[in-house]
Amino acid sequence: MTTTVNPTPSHAMGHSAEPYDIAIVGGGPVGLALAGQLLRTTPWRIVLIDAATPARAARDPRAIALSHGSRQLLEQIGAWPVPAQPIEHIHVSQRGRFGHVKLHRDDYGVPALGYVVRYGDLCQTLERALARAADAAPGRLERAFEMRIDDIAQDRKATPSEPAAVVRLTGTSHADHEGLPAAFAARIVVQAEGGLFHQQAQRLAHGAEAARRHDYQQTAIIGHVTCTQPQPGWAWERFTEEGPLALLPHDEHGTPGYALVWCCPPDTAMRRLALSAAEFAEELGNAFGTRMGRFTLVGKRHAFPLGLNAAPVTVDGRIAAVGNAAQTLHPVAGQGLNLGLRDAFALADSLRAGCTPQALQAFASRHRVDRAMTIGVTDLLPRVFGIGGPLAAHARGASLAALACVAPLKHALARHMMYGARR
Ligand SMILES: Cc1cc2nc3c(=O)[nH]c(=O)nc-3n(C[C@H](O)[C@H](O)[C@H](O)COP(=O)(O)OP(=O)(O)OC[C@H]3O[C@@H](n4cnc5c(N)ncnc54)[C@H](O)[C@@H]3O)c2cc1C
Repeated sequence: MTTTVNPTPSHAMGHSAEPYDIAIVGGGPVGLALAGQLLRTTPWRIVLIDAATPARAARDPRAIALSHGSRQLLEQIGAWPVPAQPIEHIHVSQRGRFGHVKLHRDDYGVPALGYVVRYGDLCQTLERALARAADAAPGRLERAFEMRIDDIAQDRKATPSEPAAVVRLTGTSHADHEGLPAAFAARIVVQAEGGLFHQQAQRLAHGAEAARRHDYQQTAIIGHVTCTQPQPGWAWERFTEEGPLALLPHDEHGTPGYALVWCCPPDTAMRRLALSAAEFAEELGNAFGTRMGRFTLVGKRHAFPLGLNAAPVTVDGRIAAVGNAAQTLHPVAGQGLNLGLRDAFALADSLRAGCTPQALQAFASRHRVDRAMTIGVTDLLPRVFGIGGPLAAHARGASLAALACVAPLKHALARHMMYGARR
């Protein structure tokens, strides 16, 4: 099914042989944010294609921690407020060891360090903001839902900088309606199709340099829990020998409590998923400690295998990758979507100069430091905290204690987590 989000009739654009200026493959939060910012800040004609429907995204229960910096970006495109629980304080510690770090919003002059939102609510808010932006820019946005892009090809013989050069996309429509043709062209293609489509992301590497990959041998169990001694506004990141355990303040269908992200070896995760709710809650209490009383599991648990998968380059000629299509990170410190939104805004900013390979290269070089630092920190933490033995645990405790005492270091890390390298 191909639809427009504005009242422009579909024949007014798109279905001709005329190439689009920009094709965005994937309408998850990163693709939606990119489309919204491009409509606001550039004159380009855009097509946004998604394999699924907005209704499916709206049902995704995943809880996501967005930083204050991401809130500022979402505000720019009218996609804030999102139903959210503020994170006012963060407590980082190691289970059963000395040393911890506390972060407080007042130290950074922000209303909250971050916000916990449902992925589905965020996508719905972005959809509404995009519809408003499209109304204000008639004829510049076309949407295709239930269409999976199977192939993205640029002619390597033609000079990619040639103004007439295009990228060809081929897709399969899974809807009965007549819509976007199976093959069409765009001057620039942005891959924002998430982590499930890595064969495309790898194509960016020309096969010259392998993607940066790491299998953490961890699975994240996510779920919603309540407890007998809640501490409003606090988020907890506790490193255990099995992996990090995060509890984030979160309302699930009107039940205030905590979003749980509990990383552990895959076989342990399988065992924990098979436990009764009461047994699971008890095991969680043993891992987290007694600081928040007794836990109760509310609703279903879900499991996500964890790995780092970062494309070595995010730009190849007229194709760029953003969000999880460019890098899938470990959820420790909740950085995946925050970095993805910064990808989108940095790319939109560079595309103001033109739909050219040079504009994409400018994006890649301006964004390189932010990307490398964020990937580095989220890769380092689970590896360092995964080293077994009392000596390593002692050294980590000493590092946490030192970080708590050396304010400039702590503030620099906190600022990077909130804003990336953009300030
Ligand atoms: C357990 C867990 C916890 C997390 N917690 C956090 C957190 O606290 N903070 C944070 O910042 N991040 C977190 N993340 C990461 C975050 O979920 C991702 O970074 C984010 O969803 C990436 O957004 P995206 O738009 O790039 O991709 P996605 O959200 O994956 O969206 C991709 C879209 O592309 C579409 N698509 C896929 N293939 C095709 C195709 N071939 N053709 C057309 N369309 C296609 C899909 O239908 C989808 O709509 C977490 C992840 C996990 C697994």
